[in-house]
Amino acid sequence: MKHLFLLLALIFCFQISVAQQKPNIVIIVSDDHAYQAISAYGGNKLMQTPNIDRLAKEGVLFNKAYVTNSICGPSRAVILTGKYSHKNGFKDNETSNFDGSQNTFIKELGAGGYQTAWIGKWHLQTQPQGFDYWQILPGQGQYYNPDFLMMDGSKKRIEGYVSNVVEDVAENWLDKRDTSKPFCLVIGHKATHRTWLPDTSDFGMFDDKTFPLPATFYDIYATREAAKQQEMSVAKDLIMGYDLKMFPDYDSIKDGNITRMNAAQRAKFDAYYKPIKADLEARNLTGQALAEWKYQRYMKDYLSTAASLDRNVGRTLDYLDKHNLTNNTLVIYVSDQGFYLGEHGWFDKRWMYEESFRTPMLMRYPGVVKPGATSDDFVMNLDIAPTVLDAAGITIPKDMQGESILPLLTGKKAKGRDAMYYHYYENGEHAVSPHFGIKTKRYKLIRFYKRVNDWELYDLQKDPNEMHNLYGKKGYEKITASLKKQLEGLIDKYEDEDAKRLLANSK
Ligand code: CA
Repeated sequence: MKHLFLLLALIFCFQISVAQQKPNIVIIVSDDHAYQAISAYGGNKLMQTPNIDRLAKEGVLFNKAYVTNSICGPSRAVILTGKYSHKNGFKDNETSNFDGSQNTFIKELGAGGYQTAWIGKWHLQTQPQGFDYWQILPGQGQYYNPDFLMMDGSKKRIEGYVSNVVEDVAENWLDKRDTSKPFCLVIGHKATHRTWLPDTSDFGMFDDKTFPLPATFYDIYATREAAKQQEMSVAKDLIMGYDLKMFPDYDSIKDGNITRMNAAQRAKFDAYYKPIKADLEARNLTGQALAEWKYQRYMKDYLSTAASLDRNVGRTLDYLDKHNLTNNTLVIYVSDQGFYLGEHGWFDKRWMYEESFRTPMLMRYPGVVKPGATSDDFVMNLDIAPTVLDAAGITIPKDMQGESILPLLTGKKAKGRDAMYYHYYENGEHAVSPHFGIKTKRYKLIRFYKRVNDWELYDLQKDPNEMHNLYGKKGYEKITASLKKQLEGLIDKYEDEDAKRLLANSK
């Protein structure tokens, strides 16, 4: 009897230690954060991001991380399900509602003994399902004094700036969690989404800087029909009031982003932007001078907003340090997609061109990932769900379409993807034509449809800025045929029936 008791006690202790070995998981999902604005990605000429850089120093920086569909809601749905948009059903922000009854990595973790939470920006129309806790921003959320949707159906307004408030709520959940179980926390930041409204403490932090114009700022889109038709140009489409905070009269602003500020926030806002507006009026700028003025204002607001994001990533890492969680926590930082900071003359995202297709992604996993590593493998937001399950020792469901990244980092599997498949659906705001395509190590082939019916081909080795569409040019017949075949193979692999039909009709 005594021996049996001892044996049971040993088994019990073993189980606890196994449970504790499961890594905690923190996934920080920012919004529209361009890798060009992260110093670890070489963005030093724009700004310093010491906290995201800390993840690069202590973990791995993915140089070639991409998304399957470059827009907010769809990217979050891909992260949750590990499936392409045509499989998880959330194809665009304008018509889709996330079907929360489907499987997600969160539900798998929950079944595997994890406590799970999503806090901050969610933007999937329906309420989260399968989480132990959630507290989300309604829709796009607000920068100042944000409202949150609560699990009991109520709405709660919290005073403060959104990045700080989201981090406060996340830390509060961590404080109250059941420490006998491993946890998975997703922190969804609103920054750096339009309209790039910085925290009051960050107004003016880049006022002494003039940012270099990207080489492609004055792109005229020769040979690219879809690019000609877009409505996301810094010069033409940024709105003076809404985007650039240049309001006709600061005493009668109706924009809800501004009117919800409290008196102290509003006084700082007015004190910063009013003199800029007065100066702009006095200068009477037109043409290129006005376009470049808009670019500088856009960059100052965007980067100041990013500063708060980076600072709060630092708070998350400090919390883990302070509570002795760092060594047993897998941390992923990822944006929902990349973003244009004036390249091709643009703001916004959507395209399969590099700046929006590619996303910043870093991962710290002590004891597994070598500190200071960089990866040039093709990885995708599609891979986050299977990677996290792999780390947690939970079987990856067969219908997840992503692949765990861990074997690429631990040397178990030397070869990653040769090519990536992309499909963008939204046919509305910013007038970007739906398209799908393939990127290989050297080439990119894109098929536009609906708004524009066109093919584009790029040799990324000779033309990294994607300025010269080679489709139909003499000498490229062989590579085009080969890429089409590879594209067809990926469409089959991922079972994208819409694309299959479109491809068959365009032969
Ligand atoms: Ca986004």
